[in-house]
Amino acid sequence: MQKQDKLKDNDIILEIKDLHTYFYNNSKNPVKAVEGINLTLYKKEVLGIVGESGCGKSLTARSILKILPTGAKIAQGSIFFNGEDILTLKQKRLNEIRGKMISMIFQEPSSYLNPVLTVGFQVSETYTAHFPNDKKNALKKTIQIFKEVGIPDPSKRIKNYPHELSGGQKQRVMTAMALINNPDIIIADEPTTSLDVTVQAQIIKLFKDLLKNHSSSIIFITHDLPLVSEIADRIMVMYAGMNVEEAPTKELISKPLHPYTKSLLESIPPITEKWQKLKTIEGQVPDPSEKPAGCPFHPRCIYAEKDCSTKKPYMIEVEKGHYTSCYHYDKI
Ligand code: SF4
Repeated sequence: MQKQDKLKDNDIILEIKDLHTYFYNNSKNPVKAVEGINLTLYKKEVLGIVGESGCGKSLTARSILKILPTGAKIAQGSIFFNGEDILTLKQKRLNEIRGKMISMIFQEPSSYLNPVLTVGFQVSETYTAHFPNDKKNALKKTIQIFKEVGIPDPSKRIKNYPHELSGGQKQRVMTAMALINNPDIIIADEPTTSLDVTVQAQIIKLFKDLLKNHSSSIIFITHDLPLVSEIADRIMVMYAGMNVEEAPTKELISKPLHPYTKSLLESIPPITEKWQKLKTIEGQVPDPSEKPAGCPFHPRCIYAEKDCSTKKPYMIEVEKGHYTSCYHYDKI
């Protein structure tokens, strides 16, 4: 994993600038689900993106590969991958990048695995789609990658259909699919959400092990701050379609500079035998079609002042590599 003080500009592999992704439905005004996201990912880095459901994390990730849900469109911005702006690429080049240079692991493997094809065929197909002249090696590669992601007895497992595997094994198959072409970037969108706690821990361990043998950068999306802090070098916190804080993991956890991050940290259950009432964040994430004026967090913020409901804050660098979009961070 990368150390913050070693991050250099020429190690940037992905850079998102001022990304706006909106839903255009029947109403006159688009729903601004992602509004002005900036993100930098370095080579061999694990970047965690954290936030509650509906804050725009998955839509940001899907914008990178232009695999957007129905009705969504990228309205503005640029996404540079190794210097090429993905948003201006021809379909042929985009197809080369998808799955080969940037791959994605989805939240719910059952929705992405084809129930009528064996898992081995589906993983090997990801390889042959990009290396059509190497079909004879596809099976060997699939068995190898199954072994690497910890699927026992891989020569037998490749013949299984998705319904014959447990939730954890299906997620390992998805991980194998994402890894088989040794991509530069893996986007893992809530890869552990549908799994129970023990299997979640196994998948995190798997990611940590894979980081030792692969040079991929990872964007790890989750609502679970403690979970991502186990694996991420840096964390970006999102709220209401915007980034609100970004810092190296240790610093963000020990010294949050945005009230939302602070509230997320305070709502983590303490490890103690004594029963304690959990702190919760009052209120709800605003509906993207009804975002409040000014700072979108102001209706829920205990530090809010008069100016917070009228002036929209922007990200500022408070300390090296530590950004916040709060006017009153010094009060936290
Ligand atoms: Fe709270 Fe104001 Fe900071 Fe927004 S800008 S997080 S409302 S203190």
